[in-house]
Amino acid sequence: MGSNIVVVGAGVTGLTTALLLAREERHSITIVAKHMPGDYDIEYASPWAGANYLPIHPPSPGLMEKDRVAKPGTPSQSYERDTWPELARLAQDLPEAGVHFQDTVIYRRAKDKGTAVGDWFAELINEDAWFKDVVPDFRILSKAKDKLPEGVDGGTAFTSVCINTALYLPWLASQCLKHGVVIHRGIVSHIAEATHLHHSGKRAELVVNCTGISSLHLGGVEDKAIYPARGQIVVVRNDPHIMASTSGTDDGPDEATYIMHRAAGGGCVLGGCLQKDNWESQPDPNLAIRIMKRAIELCPKLVPEGKGIEALSIIRHGVGLRPMRTGGMRVERDTIDGVQVVHNYGHGGYGYQTSYGCAAAAKKLVDETLGQVRARL
Ligand code: FAD
Repeated sequence: MGSNIVVVGAGVTGLTTALLLAREERHSITIVAKHMPGDYDIEYASPWAGANYLPIHPPSPGLMEKDRVAKPGTPSQSYERDTWPELARLAQDLPEAGVHFQDTVIYRRAKDKGTAVGDWFAELINEDAWFKDVVPDFRILSKAKDKLPEGVDGGTAFTSVCINTALYLPWLASQCLKHGVVIHRGIVSHIAEATHLHHSGKRAELVVNCTGISSLHLGGVEDKAIYPARGQIVVVRNDPHIMASTSGTDDGPDEATYIMHRAAGGGCVLGGCLQKDNWESQPDPNLAIRIMKRAIELCPKLVPEGKGIEALSIIRHGVGLRPMRTGGMRVERDTIDGVQVVHNYGHGGYGYQTSYGCAAAAKKLVDETLGQVRARL
């Protein structure tokens, strides 16, 4: 038997969760959100993402080497593992979703160990990474055979995907509409209030909280473990036909270098940084210049031979706040003021690459909760 559900949030998390719930056609779902696909706002992380699939979550400590791939370790790692097949299916079969496969290289510099970005990259640069049997074509780069950029000590290469968020978010919203989801603009000041926002006018039996960084202040949630990690990007028209990242830079421990070429004319995203607890919404012009210079150093093919940043054709500068959470993503059941709530927020810099895994886990919690509520009736 179906239930009335309200999903608060229309970022990649809310849309993916609503879609998985709606696909079964049992439930009647309303999405309520302050920001929607098409908006660019500092409170809305999803449009700013590259977005690609570069797993960063380590397997749980103590897991036997032989078990690393066979058994998921931390839930975070399994969220990443469970997301790859769907992203690969979209890249393979559904060009309208705006996801494509990309050759990817990850460069490791020994000196980045212990920095904010180096720590973020720790599993990603592991030559024995758990995801080596998940993504296609994984191989270890060799100093002798591969032309490694100066200062790079090693690295890996594989096939990943890059998502054009300007196409993918509207596509997710369209898929939700196709499956009967009703989408409304609205601002919720307390999560329990959302139970009264179902499009039927009846009370929703369950609310799914996908409000990202706003879970810090949202009434009834106010999760103090949430904090931002600011990311600044430059989107350009130049097309290097590759995705590349390094484990750090010489410009500070929280600056990063990555290049992501988005699908279907989405431009090429040059990044970046990982500035914890920094809420600044405006691009820093000096950082933008460093980002562009480093991108060309990393991938000289971005511009004609001998040219510098003046040869980059800029579409836009951007800033997004990754919704980080001490203790990791929160995919959990809760009861707030008598309202059944399933949380799915705090996805840091990995909301796309964990999206289907987290949405499936949230859906399971929704089904369990509704099953228990019905059993009590
Ligand atoms: P959001 O996208 O922030 O959406 C939150 C939603 O909740 C919005 O619709 C908002 O309006 C709504 N909302 C909030 N409060 C309320 C309220 N009170 N009432 C009603 N609605 C409300 N991830 C990857 O996987 N790969 C990448 O390559 C990648 N690159 C990134 C690069 C940058 C520069 C940044 C900033 C992030 C990157 N990320 C990447 C991370 C990814 O963007 C986030 O993890 C993801 O977008 C979080 O999505 P979300 O739906 O949880 O939150």
